[in-house]
Amino acid sequence: MSVRVLVTGGTGLVGQGIKYVIDTEPANSPFGKQDGEEWFFVGSSEADLRNAEQTKKLFEKYKPTHVIHLGALVGGLFINMKRKLDFLRDNMLINDNVLHNAHEFKCKKVISCLSTCVYPDKVEYPLDETKIHLGLPHESNFGYAHAKRLVDIQNRAYKDQYGDNFTSAIPTNVFGPHDNYDLESAHVLPALVHRCYLAKKNNTPFVVWGSGKPLRQFIYSRDLAKLFIWQLRNYDDVEPLILSVGEDEEVSIKEVADAVVKALDFKGEYKFDTSKADGQFRKPASNKKLLGLIKDTGFKFTPFDQALQESVEWFLQNYEKART
Ligand code: NDP
Repeated sequence: MSVRVLVTGGTGLVGQGIKYVIDTEPANSPFGKQDGEEWFFVGSSEADLRNAEQTKKLFEKYKPTHVIHLGALVGGLFINMKRKLDFLRDNMLINDNVLHNAHEFKCKKVISCLSTCVYPDKVEYPLDETKIHLGLPHESNFGYAHAKRLVDIQNRAYKDQYGDNFTSAIPTNVFGPHDNYDLESAHVLPALVHRCYLAKKNNTPFVVWGSGKPLRQFIYSRDLAKLFIWQLRNYDDVEPLILSVGEDEEVSIKEVADAVVKALDFKGEYKFDTSKADGQFRKPASNKKLLGLIKDTGFKFTPFDQALQESVEWFLQNYEKART
């Protein structure tokens, strides 16, 4: 039986992580391509998923049996604060078009991507899969958060009304090759890499926005890719699944900045601009459910420093073509 996997957002950070794993792991190994599988990685140049007609044509072209739905308007804290309506509307349109077509084309499975950013602001930690809808999201990203939460609602409605096998994954902060390094829209880690790179090049101070105190869980895109591939093949439940390193592996923004300074061998002045927003102080997520499910797969997380070093090397080698 042929399996045709369509990866929306396939040109982005997470999509390219999955492509790397599919292209480099041995065929028929646990995370490698299996006999009979075809993978299609598509970006916005193939179809603007906000557009119903273009989305339908994309499904007609690839006839997917499975979908990993990553395509989204994505960005860090500052752009989320500035463009709340775009983050709400674009993502609602994208998600509705993809899920509607996956249903119409009778896809056997869809995994859509949520984020730990969509959880309530005031909630008991650690976050787990049962707490997504327990209160309002943080003010800074309420557009993105509400649009993403609706995917979980849609998945449940598709299952309830039609029995569709639609589910979702919830990654924490992702980083890796092909990240968005654009200083205005980047997430914190790639923004720090780019700022430190410029400080070194221009012989200026390396300024970290905020106090450096907030804590985050970071997952390497190539580790996340393996977890998505595992989830696609093995997880048939509408309940979302948190894909993350453990709660005991939270890292402060200062620790990230220190690691960036080391990876880029930056020797100049390095300081914090506390007039800039910090966002949520911490939002630890539990990966207990995930660990219970994958315990026999041999999966291991890449150590943070190694993953950061690989990402920085990719950035340096691809500066011209990276999103800067
Ligand atoms: P990127 O910004 O790297 O990639 C976004 C992808 O979405 C690109 O392939 C882009 O295509 C595509 N896309 C954007 N707008 C449209 C559109 N209108 N029509 C079609 N495609 C579109 O994001 P990530 O890889 O980081 O994110 C992937 C998923 O993971 C998203 O759903 C995001 O919400 C989620 N996520 C990300 C986290 C992170 O830290 N990065 C954390 C948690 C969740 P193109 O580049 O060709 O324009």
